[in-house]
Amino acid sequence: MSEAPHLTFDLDAAGVSRGHLVVPAGADCEELSLPVFSLNKGKGPRLLVTGGCHGNELEGPIVARRLMGWLPEAQTCGRVIVLPVLNPLAVQAWSRNTPVDGLNLNRSFPGRAEGSVTERIADAVSRLLLPMADTVFDLHSFGPTWDLPPASVTHPIADADLMAKTVRMAEAFKFPMTLVWEYHDTLGMFDTLVQNQGKVFVCAELGGGTVGSEALTIYEAGVRNALIALGLVEGKAEYPTFRHQKSSQTLETLSSDELKSPVQGIFEPRCSVLDEVKQGDLIGILHPMYSLSAESIDIRAPNTSIVCAIRSGAHVDADQGVALLSRPVNI
Ligand SMILES: [Zn+2]
Repeated sequence: MSEAPHLTFDLDAAGVSRGHLVVPAGADCEELSLPVFSLNKGKGPRLLVTGGCHGNELEGPIVARRLMGWLPEAQTCGRVIVLPVLNPLAVQAWSRNTPVDGLNLNRSFPGRAEGSVTERIADAVSRLLLPMADTVFDLHSFGPTWDLPPASVTHPIADADLMAKTVRMAEAFKFPMTLVWEYHDTLGMFDTLVQNQGKVFVCAELGGGTVGSEALTIYEAGVRNALIALGLVEGKAEYPTFRHQKSSQTLETLSSDELKSPVQGIFEPRCSVLDEVKQGDLIGILHPMYSLSAESIDIRAPNTSIVCAIRSGAHVDADQGVALLSRPVNI
């Protein structure tokens, strides 16, 4: 390893700074320079905004760029650091994981200085940017094969105070859905690292494989709402319009709420996100394609619930998730 990860500018400098987070070269990849924006207006909340963790989720980098456009006029105090693209190798390849080492950056935290390139990115972010922040917004989207309403997402946190604080922050985005998602595959997540340091971490998500103008407008408005709630920006937070409605609900989905495909085939959705379903209602149909004599299979709601995510008509393997159900929760 030639050198340690470093920043090309002083994060403590007042006002706007633009520079790079340098991730050292390794045997698998040359040195990477990740563009970083910093706006330091002294005392106040310290926020880190990241996008492009997964390379096929491009709304985050776009919203991060928009944020850098209006923040210099709008920010009244505190510090905001924006890193629009955490994983440039994955973004360039439009791939969830890093093509070079096959790793998922959001399972590679806190990273390793001597590891492969994904681990080196995680290490650089963990060591150089995370200590500067009390709150982290990580801008994702749910990937190309799911429909999900614009949502701020957190996972259950053992520390009840931090859990409540995190849910309040997530609700401040005023997205159509705040989702508390029980999820067991959490080892190496950026979320977990930040929360283990007692800090607030909110992940923004939305569904669909295409980057659409309406979704970006909602996404940007949500981030602005959250910055207002933090006190970094003045203004009035407003519910963005989603499917003709200006509303929000806080929902919980457990790992047992995931409906899985019984066989391999093409999934046909028969309901939409945020639909309320009763026991026995049709969620979707699985069409096996290996034989014309194999019957299509109805997938029905096991109980009264709200559909929070549904496969957007993908080919799925047996036992792969096709829908996530949820119910209102108060935290
Ligand atoms: Zn993601």
